[in-house]
Amino acid sequence: MTARPVLGILGGGQLAQMMALEAIPLGIQCHIYDPDPVAPGRLCAIHHCAAYDDTSALLRFAAAVDVITYEFENIPMSCVTFLNTHKPIMPGITALQMCQDRLTEKTFARSLGFVTAPFVDLVPTLSSSDALRTVGAPAILKTRRMGYDGKGQQTIQNAEELDVARAAYGSYELILEGMVHFRHEVSIITARAQDGTTVRYPLIQNTHRQGILRTSLAPAPCRTTELEALADQIASTVLDALGYVGVLTIECFVVDAPGGSTLVINEFAPRVHNSGHWSIEGATTSQFAYHVRAVMGLRIDPPELRGYSALCNLIGDEPAHSDIPVGVSIHRYHKTPRPGRKVGHLTITTTDHTALQHTIEVCNQLIGVRIT
Ligand code: ATP
Ligand code: MG
Repeated sequence: MTARPVLGILGGGQLAQMMALEAIPLGIQCHIYDPDPVAPGRLCAIHHCAAYDDTSALLRFAAAVDVITYEFENIPMSCVTFLNTHKPIMPGITALQMCQDRLTEKTFARSLGFVTAPFVDLVPTLSSSDALRTVGAPAILKTRRMGYDGKGQQTIQNAEELDVARAAYGSYELILEGMVHFRHEVSIITARAQDGTTVRYPLIQNTHRQGILRTSLAPAPCRTTELEALADQIASTVLDALGYVGVLTIECFVVDAPGGSTLVINEFAPRVHNSGHWSIEGATTSQFAYHVRAVMGLRIDPPELRGYSALCNLIGDEPAHSDIPVGVSIHRYHKTPRPGRKVGHLTITTTDHTALQHTIEVCNQLIGVRIT
């Protein structure tokens, strides 16, 4: 018998946990690397519990695995470049580096001919009034790096407010974005295998509250043939430009355009994404299986959806099993609940649209959100 292939995952959160669960039936063993002793991924993978700058631990991790991937984009670049000299890292370092910084991300999207929100790099020599004149008010101030779930963001109405906010951020590098007046938010989730085969789910429609993803609907009720065609073009252009292997997510705004609507790119995630969690139940191949298959050099086939799916995040609190409606799947991440923390999710998948709406209503009442 040949040795079991081993996938190393940097980060051991719920995304690593769900990847490891999909790797098991493929005969692949997962190792996670996470400094958190209670990282959720430890429940189904071998845990290397050490800091991202612990070179001896990183060497042991590299020696134990065949391929390395990651489940979040804010891994220190020094850690990734060190590991890359020992084992292949997929998706590659170019993609990771581009996605770590909102400035390079938006510049990259524009260089490929796609639309983004207006933005400026808030270098210290640029006055707040000039910056606001460029992007328009109101605007959103964001840290260039390390943001997630809307953290490191602030809405700005005028130059005085921007001056105060910039002073409060001190030495952080900042970007100022114009406010996009969107009709909907959608995500493009696509995957590319090592042989170049690419697949994509239909557009997924997302609802955020306080910068945190609350719900996703797949396929997106707002999708049109034109938006799907544009999503195909965006996905294939970006995957090709990056020589990408693995799952890639592109968050977009749907905005009005002459004769219909169009997509404005918000950000890229070089990984599986919260808005794709419904695919575990709702598609023939989940985003986690696609990612594992792609980076491990296995074949990927186009997905078929098992009907309509809705995903509701469990934020800060978990319902009791007895409260969960029939037909709803729960995924608990084994994380200690605290306000604003994603601790699990619910998925509803059905071929009956009326039943979907009804179950969504019941879940809304259970967790207190509105899916729109
Ligand atoms: P995450 O990593 O969870 O996706 P994040 O912290 O990286 O979030 P963004 O995706 O940039 O941040 O922003 C979070 C949400 O804030 C967006 O999904 C959108 O609802 C809103 N938002 C961000 N930028 C803009 C913008 N320029 N115009 C309008 N709304 C915006
Ligand atoms: Mg986002």
